[in-house]
Amino acid sequence: MKIYNTLTRRLEDFKPINEGKVSMYVCGPTVYNLIHIGNARPMIVFDTFRRYMTYRGFEVNYVSNFTDVDDKIIKAANDEGVDSKEISERYIKECKKDMEGLNVMPATTHPKATEEIGGMIDMIQTLIDKGHAYVAKDGTVYYRTASFKEYGKLSHKNIDDLEGGHRDIKVTGSEGKEDMLDFVLWKPKKEGEPYWTSPWCDGRPGWHIECSVMSKKYLGDAIDIHAGGEDLIFPHHENEIAQSEAANGVPFAHYWMHNAFLNIDNKKMSKSLGNFFTVRDISEKYDLQVLRFFMLSAHYRSPLNFSAQLMEAAKAGLERIRNCVADLDFKAGNAKDAEMSDAEKETLSKADALKQKYNEAMDDDLNTADAISVIFELVKLANTEAKSESSKAFIMRMKDILVELSGVLGLKVTVEKEALDVDIEALIEERQAARKNKDFARADEIRDELLQKGIVLKDTREGVKWERL
Ligand code: AMP
Ligand code: ZN
Repeated sequence: MKIYNTLTRRLEDFKPINEGKVSMYVCGPTVYNLIHIGNARPMIVFDTFRRYMTYRGFEVNYVSNFTDVDDKIIKAANDEGVDSKEISERYIKECKKDMEGLNVMPATTHPKATEEIGGMIDMIQTLIDKGHAYVAKDGTVYYRTASFKEYGKLSHKNIDDLEGGHRDIKVTGSEGKEDMLDFVLWKPKKEGEPYWTSPWCDGRPGWHIECSVMSKKYLGDAIDIHAGGEDLIFPHHENEIAQSEAANGVPFAHYWMHNAFLNIDNKKMSKSLGNFFTVRDISEKYDLQVLRFFMLSAHYRSPLNFSAQLMEAAKAGLERIRNCVADLDFKAGNAKDAEMSDAEKETLSKADALKQKYNEAMDDDLNTADAISVIFELVKLANTEAKSESSKAFIMRMKDILVELSGVLGLKVTVEKEALDVDIEALIEERQAARKNKDFARADEIRDELLQKGIVLKDTREGVKWERL
């Protein structure tokens, strides 16, 4: 497996710290609103990475946090006149609902910042003790960036160029900062804000410290992979490295993976620009599996522009796979239990070669776009080679490969039979039996009964098929 490592700016062979295991941390959302589809991109991409590594036999320990204390959460709480916990709990619940729709597996652990404050205070104290942090007059604790020689190594920025990038730091001497690049580890409480007691002042943690602490607690001082959207490279991940490596004394994450943006009209989709769709918006129009398919149809490091046209193409693409699987299912139901023919065996070896090609694409820095093309090649092979006279074993094997490779991408391609479908099939069987017994009156009655339910029967060469009107 080769991974593009932001830290070295190179494709590197993946070598885990512990044989057969992967420890990974993915920065999760700040929960003050429904997640938008830009936020869904890292969720889908890194869930797919996790699924693929699991498929290749690794045991993956996957940690993804919820940032549940933040200015935006506090503002939303004040606007509604409720406690900030009510806001964060509400949107964690909604986020989990969206993740389920997107078939994003729950993380091994989903820590919440507010439940890890003790660990944050400990790490901040360690940084102070080691001279990497200092307390200003008002009790604010800052990280001393000048004390960390490698500051800037992830974002490959020259320290002199860095001033412009900080999102929450203004340069004022009155803040008591030694250097404009220093960032907040702990800040004093303000009226109406949640706070915790600390050795420095009653207050709350800065954003960056939470990930360093949660990653340490759940995965250890050194981890295999740290991931998130590319906007997190600087300052968030740069600061996480400075904190973790200064506190723990070992390299933090061995591989840093970053997804490119989901854009709309070629601009980053974001809450602040107001140019976003929530996952919930999309779910009103599409099966969320279509959104997942759309996201995976591009390489995760390429920007992806959201458009109705591309969503329609994704919908058609997913349907093509699903129709093929449904057709194989149907053929298997009527197929004979015969030995596989030589021609069938030859087709299966072609399918195995495609499976190999799929793995190669995924091993190449998670090239899901190429992996999907391979699935389409398999669909084509199945559509031409699986016939009504094919052996059941052959049809089932073709179907299994398609379902397996789609499943690694988190795509559900088998149509689960609804209760209603089972009833319909029972009626169809009864009609077949009636016809066999020359009870045509009963057979016609059943056909009419089904028609009333909006089901049309089609007698085909391969058996009876049904469709909804
Ligand atoms: P936030 O809640 O803003 O911290 O974002 C949560 C995750 O979503 C982070 O990994 C961000 O990098 C990612 N993200 C936010 N907007 C986009 C976007 N338009 N495209 C891709 N990833 C995004
Ligand atoms: Zn983070």
